[in-house]
Amino acid sequence: MSQKRDYYEILEVSRSATELEIKKAYRQKALKFHPDKNPDNPEAEVKFKEAAEAYEVLRDPQKRQRYDQFGHEGLRGSGGFGGAGMSMDDIFSQFGDIFENFGFGGFGGGGRTRRRVNKGTNLRVKVKMNLQEIATGVEKKIKVSKYVSCDECSGTGAHKGGSFSTCSTCNGSGQVTQVTNTFLGQMRTTATCPTCGGEGQTISEKCHKCHGNGIVRGDDVIKVKIPAGVSDGMQLSLSGKGNAGARGGIPGDLIIMVEEVHHPDLVRDGRNLIYDKYISFTDAALGATVEVPTIENKARIKITPGTQAGKVLRLKGKGVPDLNGFGRGDILININVWTPKNLSKDEKAILEKLSKSENFQPNPTSKDKGFFERMREYFN
Ligand SMILES: [Zn+2]
Ligand SMILES: [Zn+2]
Repeated sequence: MSQKRDYYEILEVSRSATELEIKKAYRQKALKFHPDKNPDNPEAEVKFKEAAEAYEVLRDPQKRQRYDQFGHEGLRGSGGFGGAGMSMDDIFSQFGDIFENFGFGGFGGGGRTRRRVNKGTNLRVKVKMNLQEIATGVEKKIKVSKYVSCDECSGTGAHKGGSFSTCSTCNGSGQVTQVTNTFLGQMRTTATCPTCGGEGQTISEKCHKCHGNGIVRGDDVIKVKIPAGVSDGMQLSLSGKGNAGARGGIPGDLIIMVEEVHHPDLVRDGRNLIYDKYISFTDAALGATVEVPTIENKARIKITPGTQAGKVLRLKGKGVPDLNGFGRGDILININVWTPKNLSKDEKAILEKLSKSENFQPNPTSKDKGFFERMREYFN
């Protein structure tokens, strides 16, 4: 895997940059490394693409947050260009407007026409994950109802025998230019062609099934790999798996939101799991071996004689794996001592006798520190 540069570094903005600052910074880079200005310069092309990839992530608040939190790894398998890189056509179709009014003429210039590319909308689905699935990572099959390409016309929108012709209003450019005279001189404004909606083409006869849209409702089963260590609310986006775009356009993304199903006994705290264990008063005093649940099964742990309530025992490496592959957390077992509530006469008599014993008087040392103190140690 190649080492990726930091997105903020690429755009030369601070990590707290506003959306506007990011947009401005991207525009500067994009204009500097624009292919029209740097013909046959592969290095400029790499920089041009790199800037677009950084912008694609940082302009999207959700992707930016994931990137801030998890770095490039956080975008792995995720939408857009978190790894794949963008083609020149992607860049011009998505960010073309950024070059407007910069003398590149129309859509990025260089003979490119400003034809609108239809983009399908994004789809969102929730996926439930239990602790076992989170621990191992899973491949899930998700059935989604969405817009798919029309099979009748292969997504073109034209009826069999129908034909496409270049739009006569805009001559195929997809946009119309108006010149108005103002006291500052002539002003040229461009707008999307009203006849063809910016596509540059018109259809002589529309497909009867999709009414010329090129898309119809349908079902799709999508396989998605969810990595180990995800947590509630995390989003993965699958580029191009959303709704199909009209008339052969680019499909939208499928955004998958992780919904964590709580384990009945183990409470998740990041990579660690916390379990509340009650032991009897006599087990605490005499020592015992007790059972605790783990993600996969059960484990037995030793209670040493003289164990205090509030002691935290640790099952190393039995927690949740780190999303970025940095090992596995622990299970922290918080020991509680069960105080008997309903005592018989005999039991009462025995305990009353014992209560006078010097060994039964509390005498905590630093080794018997309580739960909160131990938790503070754990968090530091
Ligand atoms: Zn059709
Ligand atoms: Zn037109």
